[in-house]
Amino acid sequence: MNWKIPLADLDFGPEESTAVQNVLNSRWLTMGEVTQQFEQAFAQYNQVKHAIAVANGTAALHLACTTIGLGRGDEVITPALTFVATANAIRYTGATPVFADIVSPTDLTISPESIENLITERTKAIMVMHYGGYACDMTTILALAKKYHLNVIEDAAHAVGAELEGRKLGCWGEVGCFSFFSNKNMTTGEGGMVVTNDDELAAKIRLMRSHGMTTLTWDRHRGHAWDYDVVELGYNYRMDEIRAALGLVQLGKLEKNNENRRRLTQLYHSMFSYLLPFIILPFADHRGLTSAHIMPILIPDVVDRIWVLESLKQQGIQASHHYPPIHRFSAYQFAITTKPPCLPITENIAEREITLPLYPTMGDENVHAVVRAVQVALGAG
Ligand SMILES: *Cc1c(COP(=O)(O)O)cnc(C)c1O
Repeated sequence: MNWKIPLADLDFGPEESTAVQNVLNSRWLTMGEVTQQFEQAFAQYNQVKHAIAVANGTAALHLACTTIGLGRGDEVITPALTFVATANAIRYTGATPVFADIVSPTDLTISPESIENLITERTKAIMVMHYGGYACDMTTILALAKKYHLNVIEDAAHAVGAELEGRKLGCWGEVGCFSFFSNKNMTTGEGGMVVTNDDELAAKIRLMRSHGMTTLTWDRHRGHAWDYDVVELGYNYRMDEIRAALGLVQLGKLEKNNENRRRLTQLYHSMFSYLLPFIILPFADHRGLTSAHIMPILIPDVVDRIWVLESLKQQGIQASHHYPPIHRFSAYQFAITTKPPCLPITENIAEREITLPLYPTMGDENVHAVVRAVQVALGAG
């Protein structure tokens, strides 16, 4: 399908091509020097001690869950309004995700009150997700974690570059996870990063990233090691040099691109409040500095969401939906513990949420065109 305005678009130029070409010319493709440079740059940018590059955001979440010590019988409280990978990563370890509701239709992040209501003796951790790059209420959540002796894992897949009280999101809990999937704020195609200030955890994550082996192919290539031991049942979750090279260039563009996303979000918000004041704009008020990853709106209860999406499609506008709640998926039926609605706010907004196009190279005229298309779709033009 040829969209007039796509949902997301890359900011790739000759810099990315040159960086990749340089790696190809070096004739070393798997994890090595460039990946280390990317990790160091990412750690420095986030003001965090350790950054560990991995194959994708889901691998980052899995490594976070497993190295924090989650396993069978443990419960982890997490939102249902997130991408399924957040909860899948918990289940890979044998632990059980327990779904909390969100705060309100204007704050789509996990509700601290809902978290506290779900804590049991089996609860080991809270996995938050900074929806759209908007900060969860980390101050209250960290206080809960301290009170009940729980670990906090941050799914910061939307939130690269976002801040709260001057501290980068992803760096508030014990461990934070980022994704560099193709539609994220910075991309390497597939890729991810785990960040932590805990030395011991970082060492475990590095070990588990590469088969639980005590030395890397890279060390042996440089003649630093002849032999190795395998001390854990690890994985192959490594990043490669091609992706790391893309990541370094993309990281350099992140601040400017996030600023553009924030400006375009502002423009959307002012146009909607002027032209379609009955549309609810989540995060019109929000904590901290957002990375403005996506542009969600809530249409009125009485309007059919699919009908609006269909009309936008006919007008050449690619829209989306974040997210079908996880506890409604077939593979998650075990998580339904009460009659519907078991997560009333999540379920209500999931019927009404539409995600509109937003990307850093988007022109103001395209924002105008999208808002006009929504007017037409709602018969309010
Ligand atoms: C993209 C995303 C992930 C998964 O990242 P991948 O790199 O695609 O594995 C996890 N959680 C959220 C909220 C995401 O948006």
